[in-house]
Amino acid sequence: MKNDCVFCAIAAGEIPCFKVYEDELVLAYLDINPFSEGHTLVIPKAHTTGLLDTPEETLAVLLARVKKVAAHLKTALCCDGFHILQNNGAAAGQTVGHIHFHIVPRRNGDPIEFANRPGDMEHLKALATRIGVCR
Ligand code: 5GP
Ligand code: ZN
Repeated sequence: MKNDCVFCAIAAGEIPCFKVYEDELVLAYLDINPFSEGHTLVIPKAHTTGLLDTPEETLAVLLARVKKVAAHLKTALCCDGFHILQNNGAAAGQTVGHIHFHIVPRRNGDPIEFANRPGDMEHLKALATRIGVCR
């Protein structure tokens, strides 16, 4: 791992992921400790830490892709709504120092609490296939 950043390693293909979207600048993949089924992370491939050190041009592209991927998840998983989360700094719960947006699908009446649980890899794999990679 070049810079000890797990998300850079995922972007470089050195660590596998269940991909939901990819273009030249952006990658989206399933979170391995999901809050809800379909919990997806959207990252720029270039390393920055958080909102404040990320160029506005990158943020503009990133948010447009967050919208695209959220729409895709809503259709693919028939969810009723979703959260967009973006943590900055350990005090705010950021555990990976590479900027990322969380898309957390919600269903009417679901019992979701904001607590990560270890994901089941076989389930995540099947889910990634079910969602497909959006274009
Ligand atoms: P943060 O708390 O920094 O906003 O969110 C980091 C997220 O990255 C967590 O929800 C965690 O489950 C997820 N995560 C950490 N390491 C990996 C990994 O290697 N692969 C994937 N797909 N997600 C990861
Ligand atoms: Zn990184």
